[in-house]
Amino acid sequence: MDIFHIDGSQGEGGGQVLRTALSLSILSRRPLHLTRIRAGRGKPGLMRQHLACVKAAQAISAADVEGASLGSTELRFMPHALAAGSHHIDIGSAGSTGLVLQTVLPPLLLAKSESRIAITGGTHNPLAPSTDFLSRCFLPQLAAMGARVRLDVEKPGLFPAGGGRIVAHVTPAPLAPLHLAGRGRQVAMGADAMIAAVPAHVGERELRTVGEAYPQVAANSRLHDLGSRTGPGNVLSLWAQFEHVAELVTTHGERGVSAETVAERAHAALTRYLDSGAVVGPHLADQLLLPMWLAGGGSFSTVSAHGHLRTNAGLIVAMTGARIDIRERADRIDVAVTR
Ligand code: ATP
Repeated sequence: MDIFHIDGSQGEGGGQVLRTALSLSILSRRPLHLTRIRAGRGKPGLMRQHLACVKAAQAISAADVEGASLGSTELRFMPHALAAGSHHIDIGSAGSTGLVLQTVLPPLLLAKSESRIAITGGTHNPLAPSTDFLSRCFLPQLAAMGARVRLDVEKPGLFPAGGGRIVAHVTPAPLAPLHLAGRGRQVAMGADAMIAAVPAHVGERELRTVGEAYPQVAANSRLHDLGSRTGPGNVLSLWAQFEHVAELVTTHGERGVSAETVAERAHAALTRYLDSGAVVGPHLADQLLLPMWLAGGGSFSTVSAHGHLRTNAGLIVAMTGARIDIRERADRIDVAVTR
């Protein structure tokens, strides 16, 4: 059988190349030979979180795997039968549970039976989709394509401590193309400040600051105190819900950075999206490409042609023969996926 030979340094040369390649290898039942893994990153090779993605992909496809060790820059992955059912993946660090879930979700959406995937690790990590982002932005778009996925966050785990647990229930269902022509009317805005072993005033000041910038946020603004069993950690999620789409931006509290600055960063990121003519935010954009290909096609506009978008598009085109058009307009980028 034809092997996929993938150069992991392509585009951004990050973890996303690995995840998309694993998903497509399982979907097509074609072996994968991945070289120069994460060559574009300061610390190349497989980190613990990427290893967890490989383990998860192996668990659902009974794959034979070579090269799955910390720091490895070369991987051979030979998937066999798709094994839906019950799986537990322990990332063993605060690595992102969302990224592991996104690796196995595409094949499981088309499996013959249901799956229950439990993942332990981080639920709110910098540079990764949080569980709030998945629930508010990503999964509703999958549902609009026909997918049936329920995500339970049994225990939040904030970066850097992690220790969270999520369970995803996936019921395979036929998927249909999704064309997102507009956001629709704005329905609500809100903010969630999470604190773990951090004083309550930090979250309160973040909520106050975003509430002053956007008065509509106040009605849906919540402080979640996770207590001191985990942490320390602080995450602010600021969101805007429209009829057909939602955007959620996440900022993380850091030592030496004031709560007001954390809130202003979130405000600036959401304002960039709201002021643009785009339907989806920059992160949802690269995450929608593979589901849209699976569903037979789709289209949307986004804020900027982020490196992740072009990297993922290039890889999907190379591995599937799909057509993905990315066109720059004055106030947005138009993206169309044709299977
Ligand atoms: P690396 O360490 O190599 O960067 P990685 O596994 O973190 O690896 P990336 O290639 O950087 O992988 O991909 C990160 C993914 O997380 C992308 O799909 C990106 O859209 C998504 N992402 C990053 N930040 C956010 C955010 N704030 N909200 C939602 N999604 C995000």
